Amino acid sequence: MNLNSKLVALNKIFNVYTEFADTINTACKKYCSVCCTRDVIMTSVEGYKIIGHILSEDKIHLFERIKASSALKRFQPKITINGLADLCKEEDDLPEVIKTLIGKCPLLINNTCSVYPDRPFACRCFISIENCAENGCAIIDDFVLTVNNIFLQVIEHIDQDGFTGNLTDISLFLESAQNRENLLAGKFINQPSFLTNNHPLKILMIPPEHRDRAQPILKALKNITY
Ligand code: SF4
Ligand code: SF4
Repeated sequence: MNLNSKLVALNKIFNVYTEFADTINTACKKYCSVCCTRDVIMTSVEGYKIIGHILSEDKIHLFERIKASSALKRFQPKITINGLADLCKEEDDLPEVIKTLIGKCPLLINNTCSVYPDRPFACRCFISIENCAENGCAIIDDFVLTVNNIFLQVIEHIDQDGFTGNLTDISLFLESAQNRENLLAGKFINQPSFLTNNHPLKILMIPPEHRDRAQPILKALKNITY
């Protein structure tokens, strides 16, 4: 799939998720931003969307914030969600995931997301029943976690020849016009080692108790054309 088709598909996937999220009661509000940390993970197609926002909205100054963030500790995943699903399928040992959970996202300014309409899925799906600041942590419904995994797997699937990484790392990589051109042309990209290759979706991680309830969402995702 070429990059433009991926972007069309991504927007439609985001719309399906918004419809689902609108049915959930959450404590999330404007300017509530405890969840906006430096640990946000995204795919290359989501990164391309963010860079498109930065360039078209004349927000080049954000690259300075992202560069500053690159000197700081952050979560850099060694495996993607579909990679994890493959390991589960084979009943292999799962790698330890150590998140830093420190520091603000470089795109957060005055408790507001500076790329909000084009924020990645990881930010869209972080919805808590309780206010995180008051509660000390997010409380996420089990079914919402299952649905979030489905969407993460599908987004990686449509970007299966791309890569996954920390928002800071992918944004800096795609700040380069040459890297963006390569991505757009579907050329092999020799990306840095801290970006992880994506995988196609082979098996969805849906617990048995959520399989029936997830059917309308699966149907809506299957009906997406691009
Ligand atoms: S997930 Fe938590 S911190 Fe983020 S908007 Fe919702 S309540 Fe606020
Ligand atoms: S991209 Fe936006 S919504 Fe996501 S963590 Fe950063 S500031 Fe928050």
